[in-house]
Amino acid sequence: MASPIPMSEALVSSRLRGLIPENVQLCFQCQKCASGCPVAYAMDYTPPQLLRMILLGMDEEVLGAKTPWLCASCETCTTRCPQGIDIARVMDGVRQVAIAEGRRSAVPRALAFYKTGVMNIRTFGRMYELGLIGMLKFKTREFTKDMRLGMKMFFKGKIKILPPFKGSSEVRKIFSRVKEKERGK
Ligand code: SF4
Ligand code: SF4
Repeated sequence: MASPIPMSEALVSSRLRGLIPENVQLCFQCQKCASGCPVAYAMDYTPPQLLRMILLGMDEEVLGAKTPWLCASCETCTTRCPQGIDIARVMDGVRQVAIAEGRRSAVPRALAFYKTGVMNIRTFGRMYELGLIGMLKFKTREFTKDMRLGMKMFFKGKIKILPPFKGSSEVRKIFSRVKEKERGK
């Protein structure tokens, strides 16, 4: 049987290690974060399991997991953690690394939603739901999915026909500034 990788070596070799907040060592696996997570039932690894996997240097398993893509960034886990560990931030970080490495998402619809949502805000200055639905349908080719729900929301006035275009030039400036920062300007 192969001998286990020493803990210190696993930590140093992990490129996801930088995502973990300093206080992660304080996690005592109480599961408060997992029990409050609204989407834990659909995840392949619970939030504390994912944290432990990052610590153990299991980068490939973490980057190939569904968990970060199903995370709704609701921050319930971060709020509930008695040790003050920002788990939601870790989920964000894993997604950022996966996108930067051009990986295929374990939940392709979630990645399509993120990309479409960002494009939507950059174009209209805030979320324009009808535009988001249209772009998403085009990307996923799921033209009839959730149609009944969409109609219900539309007739209740939850989906506006016209885009807001409010503050769109300011939002575009913010996006350009972020791009410049990413390029180190
Ligand atoms: S709530 Fe905090 S301490 Fe408890 S398992 Fe989750 S991360 Fe660990
Ligand atoms: S931020 Fe993500 S991992 Fe944390 S409770 Fe919400 S959905 Fe679950």
